[in-house]
Amino acid sequence: MSYLAKNYNRKKISFKHGKGSYLFSTDGKKYLDMLSGIAVNSLGHAHPKLIKTIRDQSKKLWHVSNAFQIPEGEKLAKKLCQKTFADYVIFQNSGAEATEAAIKIARKYFYSIGKPNKTKILCIKNSFHGRTLATIFASGSKKMTEGFGHVGGFQHFVFGDHKSLKKKITKNTAAIMVETIMGEGGIKVIPDWCLKGLRKLCDKKKILLILDEVQCGISRSGDFFAFEKSKVKPDIVPIAKGIGGGFPIGAVLMNKKVAIGMTPGTHGSTFGGNPLAMAVGNTVMDIVSTKKFLNNVKKSSKYFFFHLNKLKKRYPNIIKEVRGRGLLIGVQLSVDQNKFIKKLMDNRLLTIRAAENVVRILPPLNVKIKEIDIALKIIDKVCSETK
Ligand SMILES: *Cc1c(COP(=O)(O)O)cnc(C)c1O
Repeated sequence: MSYLAKNYNRKKISFKHGKGSYLFSTDGKKYLDMLSGIAVNSLGHAHPKLIKTIRDQSKKLWHVSNAFQIPEGEKLAKKLCQKTFADYVIFQNSGAEATEAAIKIARKYFYSIGKPNKTKILCIKNSFHGRTLATIFASGSKKMTEGFGHVGGFQHFVFGDHKSLKKKITKNTAAIMVETIMGEGGIKVIPDWCLKGLRKLCDKKKILLILDEVQCGISRSGDFFAFEKSKVKPDIVPIAKGIGGGFPIGAVLMNKKVAIGMTPGTHGSTFGGNPLAMAVGNTVMDIVSTKKFLNNVKKSSKYFFFHLNKLKKRYPNIIKEVRGRGLLIGVQLSVDQNKFIKKLMDNRLLTIRAAENVVRILPPLNVKIKEIDIALKIIDKVCSETK
């Protein structure tokens, strides 16, 4: 019997250790891990540089209060700002905390400039921004909010419905918050021209643009941020998942303009930005943000997409669409996703579901071509055995 509450429908499998793209189960089986703890293990398991970083830092200092200067955090914040649109960073411990902080920053900005009624955040219906009380209501998902009372302040529009989006902006709207690539929602990419349109619309209406890059950011898309290619500059960007490579880190990045609201005492976190987490974040950042690393992600992505699309041609009654960007890949099926994922797992390939009957494939960003080949072979086999 388990003493864990039943808020997860867990698969009957547990792991003893991991190495690179592989996980080894307690019953002695070797699995190719193509979900990476949901876009978290960006460098795979037991990366030697991350092991060394944790080992070295753990001997020095784990935690001090944010009442003091934390040089490791200063260093990571500088790297993030120099690499991106951002001027300032606040560190958190998770994605939901980061998106929640993003909402606070947007509201506080308008409060600071004498517009306290501008509080509403406009989000995509059935999006995903985390599981805190506020962020579940940001999702506009009945399934996630049912039974949890009500938190106001969010409005919703349907993905791709530009007309309704424009109509929903009122004088009380503070920001539009969207995932650049919807993860849980089924790997739906907001095209670059749409991101440009969103920026323009926000400028025209004098509201803020928040791009949630918790899942698609940190080189997952083949660019450090998924919005980079569009040349759009958002105002606020929450990140998490991949930046810690498995260590819990969240952060919210912002420009100078909106940072004026973040005066002493307005926001905080006991654990956020502690030296141990920051040491890990610095190492991950140093590895995943180089041009060479990103080019390699792009190369692996191209290879994966090319061959998945070949499988789609071969199995048109099983694979409906292959979508996503970089190594954030969604395979939309015409057959039952759960049975398909189970069969992949029986063949030692780990993936995870997303909405719209999508199988999500999220390998470590340093996945090898020969590992992609193994995954493709298993997907091919499962397709051939599926009616
Ligand atoms: C996972 C995710 C979150 C929430 O992150 P947690 O660390 O689970 O709180 C928020 N936004 C997006 C887009 C995510 O994919």
